[in-house]
Amino acid sequence: MTTQTKEAGAPSPAGEGSLLSVRDLHVSFKTEDGIVRAVDGLSFDVQRGRTLGIVGESGSGKSVTNLTVLGLHNPMFTTIEGEILLDGKELTTAREAELEKLRGNKVAMIFQDPLTALSPYYTVGRQIAEPYMKHNGASKRVAWDRAVEMLGKVGIPNPKERAKDYPHQFSGGMRQRAMIAMALICDPDLLIADEPTTALDVTVQAQILDLLKDLQQEFGSGIVFITHDLGVIADMADDIMVMYAGRAVERGTTDEVLRSPQHPYTWGLLNSMPRLDSDLGAPLAPIPGAPPSLLNPPSGCPFHPRCTFRDRVGGSRCVTERPLLAPDRASACHLTADQKRTIFVEEIKPRLG
Ligand code: SF4
Repeated sequence: MTTQTKEAGAPSPAGEGSLLSVRDLHVSFKTEDGIVRAVDGLSFDVQRGRTLGIVGESGSGKSVTNLTVLGLHNPMFTTIEGEILLDGKELTTAREAELEKLRGNKVAMIFQDPLTALSPYYTVGRQIAEPYMKHNGASKRVAWDRAVEMLGKVGIPNPKERAKDYPHQFSGGMRQRAMIAMALICDPDLLIADEPTTALDVTVQAQILDLLKDLQQEFGSGIVFITHDLGVIADMADDIMVMYAGRAVERGTTDEVLRSPQHPYTWGLLNSMPRLDSDLGAPLAPIPGAPPSLLNPPSGCPFHPRCTFRDRVGGSRCVTERPLLAPDRASACHLTADQKRTIFVEEIKPRLG
């Protein structure tokens, strides 16, 4: 996201110079019960060498957004409007054959569960080598050597031998490393990591995050990192976009969003995080209520049914008027800038410690 100098990570009007530029993206699905508006007017940028963290609860639209970038939705049931430019190339109108060429080559994805991405029937080395053969026209031998090299880079000991193993012979952490090797073998410009460490224990998670940071330095890729865990985002991301009900509700540099968050939903997420220094047994403070149905989203601000601050806005504005995330604002909320600052300093921050 373009946040190096600007306020709160607002996307530049045209996304000029961005590796990935998403503008006013709408994604909806036809279901038996009606139209699900999974992404509803989303704009953001990702720059080379930077990591954008996308945070939000399940159903906030984060994964749908990234599957749309990869062109992985069934066009029979999906309507996509808006613009997705990858290095200047428009993806929403690209043909499947063009998208196929981009996937694994210019843009690659790391999934939460490597077992769903790795086939049990082929060796790890063969699966890592395959995209290299496909996109670079390399021979089997060259691609295999490159796969072994990549396994070494992601920290698999004795990669020459381990490349001949099948996925079930790898531990969970090693499979995740293998998937990172597969994602990076073609040196993609953009890497999308969807909850890549959620299934791993804390020590392995820290190792994988360090590995991703090191590889980003080496390869210079832009990374979109999707998670519900603000602790992971704090460690990984340069910029943050908080999503709720298919929209961005807050964005900024990681420092801005974590040090002085402005949206009640972000306050709720921070407040519901476990803390190392809190009393053992002290209850967490989850956000009241549940994420809204996207079949029939709430009027006005989609967060209003769960928001404990809406009375401070006055009138019924939160229920009737949709707050916008304009380029010069960091959060889509009707509270004034003064109110946001005061509430955060006097009511939220003391609870966070
Ligand atoms: Fe809460 Fe109103 Fe702000 Fe929405 S616009 S987050 S309901 S205060």
